[in-house]
Amino acid sequence: MTLPTTDTIVSYSDGDLSNTATVLHSEQTSDGRWAIILDETSCHPVDIGWPDQAADRAALRRANGDVVEVSDAILSATDGSALFIGSDIPQRPGTDGWAFVVVHLTDTAIPDGESVTVEVDGELRRALSTGHTACHLASLALNRAMADRWSKEVREDGLGQPDFDAAAIERSTIREDGSTDVFRLNKSLRRKGFSTDGLADDLPAIVDAIEATLAGWLATAAPVHVDRDGPGLTDRRYWVCELPEASVRIACGGTHVTSLAELGTLDVSLDLSDDAGTPTLTMTTDAR
Ligand SMILES: [Zn+2]
Repeated sequence: MTLPTTDTIVSYSDGDLSNTATVLHSEQTSDGRWAIILDETSCHPVDIGWPDQAADRAALRRANGDVVEVSDAILSATDGSALFIGSDIPQRPGTDGWAFVVVHLTDTAIPDGESVTVEVDGELRRALSTGHTACHLASLALNRAMADRWSKEVREDGLGQPDFDAAAIERSTIREDGSTDVFRLNKSLRRKGFSTDGLADDLPAIVDAIEATLAGWLATAAPVHVDRDGPGLTDRRYWVCELPEASVRIACGGTHVTSLAELGTLDVSLDLSDDAGTPTLTMTTDAR
């Protein structure tokens, strides 16, 4: 069969761990593995452009009962004439004339047109969903703890606080039951009105403030869900958490728990370092 002309339908954002699907296209990659594209998948792929949440661990169960392991799942794209896997994508997701697809890499070929069942490892998914929700919640608490360091108007987060996270984030990594965010406190951030004066000395108090905010939010067991504009891979999706202050939305393509009760308690640490003269702040979260 030919390459698909529409985005892969995805259901992992609703929490799905399994679905039946049809193989639309498969081809062998340069490393000898098979790139398999399905019409629909519950397997979360890594987005090489912003690789915060790793791919799910998954397998494809064939009609004959054989189980084919998925060694990686990668957001990819096609213009109808060729398949571009991960970092080879020349266009931004959502570009007209391109279909954005989940490529499931396997060691075994599966014929086009065959019906398969996607089976995702629920343990790893739960741990990554916990880590990803912790990441967004902690970013809001960090914004609050940093609010008095801004001297100019700056974009606000969903709680009406200066959005330090959006202004300074360099990279975000979702771990099992936790996250690591790196923020660059560079000249352009300081020009926007952020003060780093005395930050090193203030770190313990900032951590205390973040953990106090988080403990208050976790105690509410607020519900969490993912809103989406449509079922396709590149339709916009949002993490939505019903905090006591407001219903907060953050653009997000990952997976999440359904309640803050699932996070238990959340430990946070902050570490200030120096990257070739630019101060760098690293925040780690760990749910227990
Ligand atoms: Zn996210």
